Parts: sequence; structure tokens; C-alpha cells
Amino acid sequence: MKRKRFSKPFIWLTTAVGAVVCALSVHSLPFGKLDLRFALLAAVTVIISSRISIQIPRINTNTTVADTFIFMTMLLYGGEAAVLVAAAEGLSSGLRISKTPRIVSFAFAATAVSTFITTRVVEFFFGPTTQLLDSDFSHAFFALSVIALVQYFANTVIVAIGISLKDDKPIWQTWSNYCHWVSITYLAGAAAAGTVTAISGKAGLYAVMGAMPVIFVIYLTYNKYLDDIKASAKKSELAERARAEAEYARAESERKRAELAEEHVEAQNKHIEELERIKKDLEDSREHFRHAAFHDSLTGLPNRSLLTDQLKLSIELARNSGDHMFSVLFLDLDRFKNINDSLGHAAGDSLLIEMAARLESCLRPSDAIARLGGDEFAILLDGLRSREEAVRVAERIQEEVARPFSLGGSEVYTTTSIGINICSGYYDNPEDILRDADTAMYHAKENGKARYELFDTRMHANAVAKLQLENDLRRALENDEFVVAYQPIVSLKSGKIAGFETLVRWHHPIRGLVGPNDFVPLAEETGLIVDIDTYVLNESCRQMREWVLEAVEEPSLTVSVNLSSKHFVGQDLIRRVRQALNDSGLESKYLKLEITESAVMDCAETAASLLKQLRELGIQLSIDDFGTGYSSLSYLHRFPVNTLKIDRSFVTRMAKGENTEIVRTIVTLASNLGMTVVAEGVETYEQHHLLREMNCEYGQGYFFCKPVDAAKASSLLAQANGLSSSSHSHLLQGVEQIPPTMDELAA
Ligand code: C2E
Ligand code: MG
Ligand code: MG
Repeated sequence: MKRKRFSKPFIWLTTAVGAVVCALSVHSLPFGKLDLRFALLAAVTVIISSRISIQIPRINTNTTVADTFIFMTMLLYGGEAAVLVAAAEGLSSGLRISKTPRIVSFAFAATAVSTFITTRVVEFFFGPTTQLLDSDFSHAFFALSVIALVQYFANTVIVAIGISLKDDKPIWQTWSNYCHWVSITYLAGAAAAGTVTAISGKAGLYAVMGAMPVIFVIYLTYNKYLDDIKASAKKSELAERARAEAEYARAESERKRAELAEEHVEAQNKHIEELERIKKDLEDSREHFRHAAFHDSLTGLPNRSLLTDQLKLSIELARNSGDHMFSVLFLDLDRFKNINDSLGHAAGDSLLIEMAARLESCLRPSDAIARLGGDEFAILLDGLRSREEAVRVAERIQEEVARPFSLGGSEVYTTTSIGINICSGYYDNPEDILRDADTAMYHAKENGKARYELFDTRMHANAVAKLQLENDLRRALENDEFVVAYQPIVSLKSGKIAGFETLVRWHHPIRGLVGPNDFVPLAEETGLIVDIDTYVLNESCRQMREWVLEAVEEPSLTVSVNLSSKHFVGQDLIRRVRQALNDSGLESKYLKLEITESAVMDCAETAASLLKQLRELGIQLSIDDFGTGYSSLSYLHRFPVNTLKIDRSFVTRMAKGENTEIVRTIVTLASNLGMTVVAEGVETYEQHHLLREMNCEYGQGYFFCKPVDAAKASSLLAQANGLSSSSHSHLLQGVEQIPPTMDELAA
């Protein structure tokens, strides 16, 4: 910014100096010497020469022919004339490039001033310029060189100062950028001027002027030549550029191709990576499903199907090598349902998880374990050396399980029943192995739980028979194969029939008459007993109602119906009893229900309430098989029971003198509690006699009568009224009408 403000003043100063210089030149112009040739030279300079520029190839600069003519004017007509011609030429070219007065005046002044400086310097050193060419060649050459150089410096420095001020750039930098090469054009101009002037001195200026068209043609040719050079340069430049562009395009396409290839490879790699990932995912999910398919989700143990696979391998091994022995332990927790019911299912789950861990801790690496469901586990002990080895594992497991489990802050104890199946080569499929181990486990449960049992083939036969029996029982219910037998209960004092106990029999189509001991336990296990009892109850009530209707006067008689403990604790009991009474129309006082001692004592509170409800219906109650269970005397008096039935086992042994005191005690106890007593299983006169002696009121047994069918019972009733105890044989007559059961035959 600093220089820029000097730009305009510099231009006006230069213009002013230019004007002064021109004025001075006009003042001392040798008008007398100026001829037509001068006018011609001036005109050519101003009009033509400044329009013709000669380019100097390769260095990209050009010179106007005007300088040559100005130098010629200087050499022919002196410095003043040259200054004026230069001023005119400057003005003309200034006007050609711009209409701005400042620029035009600067162009005029710069040429005028620089030409003025040149003439003054040359005149100072070499004398009048018009005589320069008269001296010898070297002197003239030297003078011409000085003219060229001074003009060059003067002109370029003035122009450089002007530009540098305008552009606000250092003068030196501007000068070297714009004016460096111009010196050559000045030297060339001076040389040409010298030559032309020398020639014109000999040939005359007109001749030179006349040669102008020729020179012009030469000039045009030269220009044409330059154009050609330019064109060919341009062409080669274009060709070069095209080549470069083609090269660039080729390189670019190469690069793109490489890039694409790389991208392709990258994409392919990505694709492969993606595929690998998917493959891994699939394998993971396959593994996940495989694991889920073969494992138990709660404990993480293998499940039945995985164990089955392992068993198949063991079977194969045992078949191929004769002495390969393995064993399957089938475990079931005892009373697991109690834990679930009392502590909740979450606690039950925790117990199973802990159980799984304890079982695993008892095994060798070659053994396998599985959770089969619920609280059932199975263990495969492979490569056994002896049966004892399997037994030892079972014992170790029972010790492990016996330690308390801590569930939700409380300590819980449990036990397990184990079935052991020792296997060698005779099994064909895993299911059979598991089934037999399960059967052995079932026996362990039956024999008191918290123990193990070894499987033997009889167990299997039993299991098969049981299954058959269960199916048969269902069928029997549908086909009305059950019949009711009646066994009189006799008053020991009067010998009269005090009532009947009804006992179920099964008319098996193949096996004949089957006694309750052979099917009641299984019927209880399967729940079928409820339907059987209901049938007997209904039939008993119907029969008793018939007897009541047939009697001349209201009979003092009861019908005693057995109730399974299963049936007894079932909620449905009261409804079923009511239903039976309603359906038959029997008054409740004729009905007596026999419930075993253990059924009552096992759940004393429930029993007390049930018994109370039954009593409220007007039904009488007996405790059956008294003496075989564990009656708590403290409970006994709280139960609203009418009768105690002394179990047959005590009565039977009375004859040998044993148990007499026990029976006597029971009789006394019953009397003290306000209950009556029935002695079961009276078979001999002696037993009968002893019972009478100890004031036992009632008796029941083969001594009086075996169980008989309804028709026989009716006829007994019809004729028995008034029978005395001494004529008991009377009662026995004709009792064979209902075929004896196996037990009865044995007796
Ligand atoms: P229980 O209720 O104690 O029945 C008495 C059993 O003793 C009857 O056997 C009867 O035939 C037998 N018995 C009677 N007097 C004598 C005798 O002098 N000597 C011998 N050796 N036995 C005698 P039964 O009929 O085989 O019944 C056995 C058990 O089956 C019954 O014992 C009872 O607990 C049960 N039971 C029978 N019928 C039914 C029923 O309808 N429902 C239920 N739930 N259980 C029944
Ligand atoms: Mg009974
Ligand atoms: Mg009994």
C-alpha cells in the first residue's frame, strides 16, 4: 500500500518531464535539416512500424520495429528529432492499448524521456549522433551498443517503476519479471538501425524506402515462418498434451482397474468373511440346538436321549467283548412332592440342581449321568469289574444325598431310592435297561424307600404281570366283573347275626374268583380302588335296603363296607356316601364304614374331621385291623368311632395262649372308650370260647361263616333269627354256595 500512493504522482511527474523534454526538443529542432524523408520516416514510425512487432522465438518476447526507426531518426536527424518521433510513436501505441489519459500520457512520456536520456548520454560520450556512423566500424558499433543499452535501461526502468508502484511490488522484482529480455530487442533494433542507415547513406533513403515492400514481404515470410514454428510447436505441444492426456487416461484407467480389482478382491474377501461368519453362526446355533436337544435345561445334565445313545454304545461293547459289564442306576427322590408343595417350586428346582452336582461328584470320568425328568436321574457306570462296584456307588450316592440341602435359608433333608440294573451282553435296547432299572427302583420304594434294590428277572415278570393286572382291572370295572361277598358278624352272646361285612371279589374270566388281597394294592396304587369301593358301597346299600324291606320288624342289623385309605382321604368321599344312601334309600344307621387303623392315624387331623362328618350323617364307623397300626391313644378317644375290629392275627394266636392279654386289653380299652369290639378271624370253638369269656361282644370268622353271596346271606338271615351260639354249625351249613377264594381255600 505504501508504494501504490506514489503511482499516480509518478505518472504525472513522468508526463510533465516528457512534456518538458518534447518542448526542449522542439525548441532546438534543426528545422533546416528536416526534409520530406524525415516526414516519411516519422509517418512510417508512427503509423506502421509500431504496429509491426517481431517476435523472438523461444524466449517469448517481441520488439516493435518502431525502435529501429527511432534509432534511425536519431542517426540521420539528431536527438531532438528522435525524441519527438519517439514521443509521437509512444502516444500512438498508448492510444492503441488504452483510452485512459494516464496510461496514454505515460506511454508517450516514457518513450520521450528515455529517448531524450539516450541522446544526451550518447552525445556526451560520442558527440553528435548524426556523425556516429562516419567513424570506424568498431567505434560505430560501440556507440550503437551504448544507444541500445541506455535506451533499454532508461525505458525499462521508467516502465518498471510505474508498474511496481501500481502493483505495490519491489522495483527490482518487477523489472526482472517484465524487462529482462527486452535488452536483446533493443540491441537488435540498434543493429538494424545502424545497418539500414549505413546502407541508406550509400544507396539513398528512397532506395531503402523503395525496398520497404520487399522488406515487408520478408517480414511477412518471417512472420509466417514464426507462425509455422508456433503452429508446429503448438502441434507438438498438442501432440505432447494429447500423449500426456492419453498417458494420464491410461494410467487413470489402469489405476481404476487396479482399484476396481482391489475393490473386487476386497468385496470378495468381505463376502468370504461374511460367509465364514454365517457359517460360524450356523454352527453355533446348530451346537446350541444340539445341546438343547440332548440336555436338560434346569440342571444342564444330559437328557434321556443322550443317555440312550451312550447306552447303545455300551450294549455294543458288551456284545463284542463277552466280559464287558456295565450298570444303570435309576434314582428317584423320596417325597420330592412334599418339598415342592411345602417350599415351592423354586426350592424344588434348587434342590434338583444341587442334587445333580452331588451325583456328578460321585462318578468316575467314564460314567455318564442324565436327568430323565422330574426327580428321576439315571447313571451309567461303564466298564464294571464287579456287581459290588455298582452297589458301592449307590451307597456313596445315598450318603451324599443324606447330607442336608440348604434351600432358601432352611435345611432340608431328603433321601433317594435307587434301582440297580447290572447288564452284560443280553440287552438289545437301552429302553429295556432303563425299564428294568426303574422296576428295581420301584421295589426299593415299596420296600421302604431310602434304599437300593438290584434288579432280577422276577421283578420284570412281576412288573409285566402288574401291567396286565392293571389293564384287566380297568376292563373288569367296565364289564361288571366285581361281585360282593357277605360275611356275617355274629353276636357272641346271642349267636344272632348282628350284621354283614361286605368283601369284594373279582370274577376273573380266566383266573376265576380272585380275592381282594391280589388286586386291592394295585387298585389303590392306580386309583382304581375308588371306583371299586364305590361299586361295593352302592351294592351293599342296595342289598341292605332290600333286607330292611323284607324284614317283618325293623332289623337290628348293619352292613359294614371297607374303605381304602386312598378313598378315605379323597375329598369326594362324603358325596359318594350320601349318593349311595340316596340312591338306595337306605337309612344311614344301617351303614357302617370300616377304615384301617393306619389310614386314620396317618393323617389324624383330616381323619378326625372326615369321621365327624360321616358320623353327622348318622353312619357308624369301625376301625379295621386294630392293633396292626400305630394307634395313638391320645388320638383314639377323639375319633368318633363306634367299633374296634381286633385284627385276625391276634385272634389266631390266642389259641396258643399268646396274645390273650392283648386281646383282653383291647376289649377293655374299647369298653372304656364306649366302643364295641369285633374279633376278626374266629376259626375255632376255643377262640370263640375265650372271646366270650373276656366279654368280647362280636365275632367274625370261618367258625361262624365264610363270606357268602347275597342270596345265601339272605337265606341265612331268614333262618338265623333266634340261633344260639351253641348251634353255630347251623350257620355254617350251605355256605359253600359262593366259591371260596384262594385265601379261604388255604384256610
Ligand atoms: P378285612 O377288611 O380285614 O376283611 C376280613 C378278611 O378276613 C377277609 O378277607 C375275610 O375273608 C377274611 N376272613 C374272615 N374270617 C376269616 C377266618 O376265619 N380266617 C381267615 N383266614 N380269614 C378270614 P378278604 O375277603 O380276602 O379281604 C381281605 C382284605 O381286603 C380285607 O380285610 C379288606 O381290608 C380288603 N377288602 C375286602 N373287600 C374290600 C373292599 O370292598 N374294599 C376295600 N377297600 N378293601 C376290601
Ligand atoms: Mg374289613
Ligand atoms: Mg380286618
